[in-house]
Amino acid sequence: MFGMRLPSLFVSHGAPTLPLEDSPARRFLEGLGTAIVRPSAIVCVSAHWERDRPHVSASERPETIHDFYGFPETLLRLRYPAPGAPQLAERVGKLLEHASLPAASSPDRGLDHGAWVPLLLMYPDAGIPVLQLSVQPGLGTRAHVAIGRALAPLREEGVLILGSGGAVHNLRHFRPGSTEVPGWAASFEDALVAAVEAGDEASLVGYRAAIEHAPLAHPTEEHYLPLLVAFGAGGGAPGRTLHRGFEHGAMSMAAFSFAAERGERRR
Ligand code: ZN
Repeated sequence: MFGMRLPSLFVSHGAPTLPLEDSPARRFLEGLGTAIVRPSAIVCVSAHWERDRPHVSASERPETIHDFYGFPETLLRLRYPAPGAPQLAERVGKLLEHASLPAASSPDRGLDHGAWVPLLLMYPDAGIPVLQLSVQPGLGTRAHVAIGRALAPLREEGVLILGSGGAVHNLRHFRPGSTEVPGWAASFEDALVAAVEAGDEASLVGYRAAIEHAPLAHPTEEHYLPLLVAFGAGGGAPGRTLHRGFEHGAMSMAAFSFAAERGERRR
């Protein structure tokens, strides 16, 4: 659609049980799908697909992957039967190649819970074609901003770039049902929100040194990196905080939009 330009988004997907329990984050995600123009397709960058270099899923009919253990049976029965987007996968591969970020195609890859949990809440009709793009912890933070920048042109074509991870994510501090937020987690989220809203690329890329408690907030980087792809896809513009709050103790559910000037309906 001419002139339709979508924001890029970052959402925190929380625990896999998010679709089963009422919570502010769940209600936020349920409203998010109608808060922006309906995309023609979705490129989802999930924390739960880690590779050494960018991989693009190219399945025609991606299966729902239940990549977690010890959760209720009802969760294992949930499916997200959205169509894949093999042609878009090819285009994503080319855009990355032009940015000197060679990507591999994964024709059999399905949708992991980092992708289907938020999508199930945002677009329950499962009518929008979806593909996944991996994260590459070995390539570092800067490469993920570059990946986002390479994909920015897709926003002009009605494609939603959706990063799905966690704004604060440390499973050692996962306390099911707890509403006690540790000080370090609140402090990190505050500083992260400030950096996002300032469009402070240096702090976002160098967050491990620039933001206090970063090693506690992200003992590993895979849940942080999708945020940098969304930031890059927004052209490095200041972001807007769409949602904040914690679940299960230290798990931040913060969500941001980038470059929302036209694609986002104001509420
Ligand atoms: Zn996760």
